[in-house]
Amino acid sequence: MNIHEYQAKEIFQKYNVPTPRGYVAHSVEEAVSNAEKLGGSIWVVKAQIHAGGRGLGGGVKLARSLEEVKTLSSEILGMTLVTHQTGPEGKLVQKIYIEEGVDIADELYLGVVLDRAQEMPVIMASLEGGMEIENVAHDSPEKIIKVAVDPSIGFQPFHGRALAFGLGLQKEEINNFIKFASALYTVYMENDVEMIEINPLVKTKSGNFVALDGKVGFDDNALYRHPEIEAMRDLSEENPAEREASNFGLSYVKLDGNVGCMVNGAGLAMGTMDTINYMGGFPANFLDVGGGANAQTVAKGFEIILRDPNVKSIFVNIFGGIVRCDRIANGILEATKLVDVHVPVIVRLDGTNAPEAAEILRNANIKNIITATDLGDGARKAVAAAKGELV
Ligand code: ADP
Ligand code: MG
Repeated sequence: MNIHEYQAKEIFQKYNVPTPRGYVAHSVEEAVSNAEKLGGSIWVVKAQIHAGGRGLGGGVKLARSLEEVKTLSSEILGMTLVTHQTGPEGKLVQKIYIEEGVDIADELYLGVVLDRAQEMPVIMASLEGGMEIENVAHDSPEKIIKVAVDPSIGFQPFHGRALAFGLGLQKEEINNFIKFASALYTVYMENDVEMIEINPLVKTKSGNFVALDGKVGFDDNALYRHPEIEAMRDLSEENPAEREASNFGLSYVKLDGNVGCMVNGAGLAMGTMDTINYMGGFPANFLDVGGGANAQTVAKGFEIILRDPNVKSIFVNIFGGIVRCDRIANGILEATKLVDVHVPVIVRLDGTNAPEAAEILRNANIKNIITATDLGDGARKAVAAAKGELV
């Protein structure tokens, strides 16, 4: 689960991670009164959407008077903000954050992510603040300093020094930085965070560090331990199809290809997507129907997959372990009565009662249901069908 910048900063403040002062606003009037409450003479009006790159897209603007706060707020609130992370359709701005302007001496980058290979959280820092860290990692990986923290010992001053020296910080800045990184690590660990990104981390003229931006993603499986974080969920920011799928116990993630996938088990789903790629195609989605697939879940799966206009074929790849293949085959036939499946469906069922399942599908004799003998055969047929070839 992701949250907005203003919510990330609320959490940071609780852990003494310094941020500029600011207040969220839902209307222009509220924005102006927030600016008055903050005082000072420079404010920043920031669109709150779950995507980065807002600055370049025109969603972060500096105001030098209350009048300007008013104008900028009315421009940004309600705009459809397009950034490289929103896709071309953009995102509607429903909230803005009014923040005090910060006197920036330097923009850095600081993040914490889980490194699955090392089985540890890794803190990443770079002097290339404000840039996409993925691009820095690609073009000049030596500019990113990484320190893995063994969770059993936790963050220690030496971790902080390794980062600070790597960044070439001045003597009087080092302690401030270590305190900052240590507090950020605590945010990461205590809230079951999957990734935190502060881009930019700002060094002020007085050598202090301030989180100017904040992006935090949480581990969904641990949310039950943090009701106060779950309460920060903004459903309007989430993909409606993914949300609906999760209500039916399906894990659906939309992708950009044209071969819809319906699979049971996350591992098999990944293998299916890889094989589609291997056969020269592109999956339109990840969909795990889970262990108890039946006619209703299969129908829901078809419905959600077909809502994506890019989908030109569907590959159903289900292993009958707990569920029997003959029941799935009947479920697929049932589902085609409930949902108008207008693209070719390639079905590969293996495991318990696979021969009976093949028999059921053959006897049903439905034109756009095509059976496959194995994963490779199914993926090949699904990719061909998506290209409009005869299979
Ligand atoms: P995004 O990453 O989505 O573009 P940021 O919060 O990083 O949004 O803001 C973009 C840029 O705007 C920052 O790199 C910084 O230069 C400037 N900025 C953001 N907040 C402030 C602030 N409070 N004071 C001064 N400049 C700011
Ligand atoms: Mg940023």
